[in-house]
Formats: sequence, structure tokens, C-alpha cells
Amino acid sequence: MPETESNEIILRGIGGSPGICIGKAYLVDREGVDVVQRYTVAGKNLPKEKKRFKAAVQKAKEELHDIIKSTPEEFRQHADILETHVVLLKDKMLYARAIEIIENEKINAEWALKKAVSGLKRIFRDMTDPYLRQRAEDIVHVSDRILRNLVGARQVDIRSINKRVILVAHDLSPAETSQIQLERIMGFVTDRGGKASHTSIIARTLEIPAVLGVGDATRRIRNDEIIIVDGSEGSVVLHPTEETLVEYQERQVQFEAFRQIISRDSHLPAKTQDGIQIDVMGNIELPEEVVSVLDHGGEGIGLYRTEFGYLSRSQFPIEEELFDKYKDVVEVMAPRPVTIRTLDINGDKALNYAAQRPEENPALGLRAIRYCLKRQDIFQTQLRAILRAAAYGHVRILLPMISGVDELREARRNIAEAAAGLEKEGAVHNAQVAVGIMIEVPSAVVLADYLAEEADFFSIGTNDLIQYSLAIDRGNQEVAHLFNPLHPALLRMIRQVTETARAHGIETYMCGEMAADPVHVPILLALGLDELSMNPQSIPAVKRVIRSLSAEKCKPFLELALQQRTAQDVMNLLRRTYGEIFAQNLYGQG
Ligand code: PEP
Ligand code: MG
Repeated sequence: MPETESNEIILRGIGGSPGICIGKAYLVDREGVDVVQRYTVAGKNLPKEKKRFKAAVQKAKEELHDIIKSTPEEFRQHADILETHVVLLKDKMLYARAIEIIENEKINAEWALKKAVSGLKRIFRDMTDPYLRQRAEDIVHVSDRILRNLVGARQVDIRSINKRVILVAHDLSPAETSQIQLERIMGFVTDRGGKASHTSIIARTLEIPAVLGVGDATRRIRNDEIIIVDGSEGSVVLHPTEETLVEYQERQVQFEAFRQIISRDSHLPAKTQDGIQIDVMGNIELPEEVVSVLDHGGEGIGLYRTEFGYLSRSQFPIEEELFDKYKDVVEVMAPRPVTIRTLDINGDKALNYAAQRPEENPALGLRAIRYCLKRQDIFQTQLRAILRAAAYGHVRILLPMISGVDELREARRNIAEAAAGLEKEGAVHNAQVAVGIMIEVPSAVVLADYLAEEADFFSIGTNDLIQYSLAIDRGNQEVAHLFNPLHPALLRMIRQVTETARAHGIETYMCGEMAADPVHVPILLALGLDELSMNPQSIPAVKRVIRSLSAEKCKPFLELALQQRTAQDVMNLLRRTYGEIFAQNLYGQG
């Protein structure tokens, strides 16, 4: 990590969403307290260090008392646990021991506390009495509270952030992200996560610069310090010098100006030089994002991730609520198509109210269509809402995580059942909707021929197809460098899907993040995808590159690309062949 004389530090991560922002950091995660540093505290600073520790304990006590006071009677049990926490704060083994360690070992309070706690945890965990063993957890909670006060990491209710800040977190679950009042957030920095993680996807949709997978951002960044986030480069600058600040302010202005230039012609159709028109659509998570799709020249919704409407709430939505939301989206977009994907929960999008046993491998667990086919009551509620909304515009149904023909049939049977119920009740609805499937599980690629006989369209979800076929956790920064849509295996799979679909007379779309990178356009055009869907802010650049290319001329290029042995070779070939076109159309050069 380069550290200059000026104290400036550059942290490297993954560019999750392009753009630059400069602002105050807001540390939100408790995980931040798990990675404390150890440093020596010399002579006269020792009493100060002890005082700092005592103040953090005092603050923790006040915080606990405040929570206890505001706890309603029906949660008395919870308040009782907090009372024991107050007692533990001053426990000899914790409080006195930490002070002793500071004094004897001349080290900082955070480290001393960690040391005291790990000793205590060992003692409690070895106890045979389960009640006492449980107390080990209380000690961790108590020490986390003190640590948070020591390092200045606030445990915040994300919803309550009320100033413009750059959010710095260990990780943000989709549920947390959907709680944030996003207009308050200038940027995101997280320790975990990669380009295909849901935080990235949301950040891109909202045009918020984001750098993910930094590894130790929560440890190195302090609350309220001014930082620079460069989501295009994937870097975060701490303690920037005056010069660096000015440089980044200029880059920020340039980035915004170029974004505007690209947006100017975003409403023109995406027609190639040889007259092939590709529909470029937007992906949305929430109905409010529809405006952004239209503003960026999107020709419809290629993926509506409806599960976000189920997150950050306390119970499943009722049919009426879903119907209202879907109808809104469908009406605003009409006559353009709206592809409503049925509930894709669990995996990394777990619902806290959907009582379920914790899964060891959530990505391979009771996710998406598997969940819906198990909980057909929940599936029916959503399907009925979709079919009712379909009466107000152009709706398609998209089924996530289909792995074989039986799931598709069972899902179709459910759709027919929902339609029959509405028919019987005389409810306004439209049952004539196309039913397509996500191609995101490798077995669906292998069985594309059988699936094409029973599905109305395919939509390739590269985020999960990469995750499942290359065995790369899409949210794990340790393997994020391997997550590459140009992997020759992926290119072959996509070709197999598009060719099979064509042979069966159905269309293939792509709604995974691969479609959002304009650099991939020559390959996607040659593969013959009929529609590309992406986060709205990527639409203008993708359309622009489509307009600059001839689909026919991309075909020999694809043949060459498919002969490459590695993703890097494919990228090099792309750069050699199309570098100039990218420079002109994406960076305003040439
Ligand atoms: C995908 O997997 O590529 C996809 C589009 O779905 P999601 O990102 O919501 O899993
Ligand atoms: Mg997916």
C-alpha cells in the first residue's frame, strides 16, 4: 500500500460502480471492531490510554441504560439481558484485567480489551453449564460495544443516516442496502463484495460511486475523515493532500461532463451500422427506478428483481400491495415490455421473516424457484399480482434459477392455477404473458434444447452462471479477480444457449452484468443476443457502442475470440481489435 510522505494512503479495491465522490466517511459496521490494531503506548500516554478506556466503558454504560429505558414492557426479557451487560461492563475479569494489560504491556486499549476478552471467552466456553457457556456471547457483545466507542465506529440504524456521507462498511447485505435513504449516500466503500454483488448492482443503478472488496477499509478509515472514492479505478484515497483533492475534483467534473455527453443521444435506437436493432433495457430492483431507466434511454425493463420489495420489512407483502407496485411499473413503461422476475430470495438475499433454518451453503440452498415451489402460497400471491398487473401493459414472467424441465413445468402449472383462480373470480387480469427462464444454472445450459421447447424466451444471468459454472462466490473479494465474463467456458456456454434458442425459434436476452460493460458489445452482438438488459446508467454507453459497430463484422471476431484459451487472451484481442472504437465512444478520445 503506497504511503507517501504526505500521509496520503491509497486503498485498492474493485470498482463496483463508476464515478468519483469526495466526502466524509461514515463507518457503519460492527465488523469494524473485529479488526483492531495493536500499538505501543509510551510513558506519559499510559494514563491517557486508561482514561480513554474508562470513558469508552462509561459511554457503553450510558448507551445500555438508554436502551433499557426505552425498551417496552413486552420486551422485558431483552432488557434483562442488557442489565446483565451493564454488570459485565465492570466485571473484574474484563474491566480490571484490560486496565492491567494496558499498564503491564504498554499497549493500546483496544488490543488490551481484545486480549482480556479472548481469555474470558476461553474460560466461559470450557464450562459445562450451557447457561454459563452462553455468557461468552454476552461478553463479546459487551466488549464490541466498548470497542465501538474506542475506535469511533458507530452502531447505527442505517435508516437514520441524515447527512450526505460516504458509507464505509464491512459488508452490506441487500436487506441493509435497501434500508438506506440512498439520496443521503454519496458513495460506498466495503471490505467485502465484488462487481456482481448486490451492493454493486444497486450502486450502479443509483449512480453512486462504489469501491468494494477493499479488505480492510473499516479498519483503516475513521469516522468523519474526508476520503476520495474513485469507483471507476476502484481506489479510495485517505488523508488526501490539497493537490490530490483538486485533481480529483477536476476528474469528477470531467466524468460528469462525459456522462452527460453520452446521455445526450441515449434515446436514439441501438441500431448497428448494418441495421440490426438490439433492444437495450433496464434492470430495476424497486419501482422508483423506472424513471432512471426511461431517462437513460431504456427500451423496457429486462429484469425486475421483485425480491427487493420483500426485503427490509417484517412480513410477506399481500397481493394488493404487490399488484399496486407492479401495475405502477407496467403502466409507466407501457407499451414497452416489463419482465417481472418471480421471487429470487435467499442465497444472498435472505428474508428475516421467512422462518427458515440457517443454510450452510445459501447459494446452493432453498433459493429462488426452489423456495417458491416449496411455498406455493407465497408464489400464488405473487403470480396473481403479476397476472393482474399484466392487464395494464406488456408483461413477461421470468423464472429464476431453473435447473431442469420439471421446475419449469411446475412453475407453469402454478401460473395456470393463478390464472384459473382469477378467471373464476372474474378479476381483471391477462393470462397471455410470455413465460421465460433465467439461464443461470449450468444444467440449464446443458438442457437448453429441452427447455427451449417449453419456455417462451431465455434470459442469461451471467452473475450466477459465472458463480455456479466457474465455482466463484460472486460476493467474495478473495476470488473477485477470477470473476470474468470473458472466460472461454462462459463464452462457449452462451453460444450454446443462443444457438439452441435460435434453432427452436425463441429469443435469448441477457440481463446479467456482462451485458452492462460496453467492452463486451462486439461479442454480444456476434452471439446474436436479441436484447440486453442492465443497470440504467450503463444503457447510454452500451447503446453508443452498438451504434458504432456492424453485427456482421463482429462474427469473424467471435470465432477468433472463441479460439482463445484464457479470458485475458480474449480481452487482449478485444482491445487490439476495438480499442480505437472504445476510446472514441467511451472515453471521448480520438
Ligand atoms: C444474474 O444472476 O445474472 C442475474 C441477473 O440475477 P441476480 O443478479 O439478481 O442474481
Ligand atoms: Mg441470478
